[in-house]
Amino acid sequence: MSKTLFEKIVAREIPAAIVFEDDLVLAIRDINPQAPVHVLIFPKKPVPRIAESGPDDHKLLGHLLLKAAEVAKKLDLKSGYRLVINNGVDGGETVPHLHVHILGGRHMAWPPG
Ligand code: AMP
Repeated sequence: MSKTLFEKIVAREIPAAIVFEDDLVLAIRDINPQAPVHVLIFPKKPVPRIAESGPDDHKLLGHLLLKAAEVAKKLDLKSGYRLVINNGVDGGETVPHLHVHILGGRHMAWPPG
């Protein structure tokens, strides 16, 4: 199995601006930011997408969300932020390795596009 883009970033085979790392997750600046703050946080384990996560992932998914909130705090997003998970073609997913977008630094519109 070839490595996903985010596995290559975890392995330092592709450079990234890392904002947080622990044994289970990595957070990096998005290369094409859609807001003044745009960070991606993902599990080091290559779960392809949320729809393909399973019961074995429940602790990992909880950890991912808790760390997303911690990273948002570290980034000083006091007035709020949005977490986004794109799943599959209609969800706008382009990287098949589960990740949460942390978007902040401006007011987010609703509904999303
Ligand atoms: P999604 O469309 O939800 O799958 O999100 C994938 C995100 O990965 C997009 O926002 C891209 O801008 C971002 N991205 C793609 N390549 C890189 C990279 N090398 N470093 C950081 N972010 C990236």
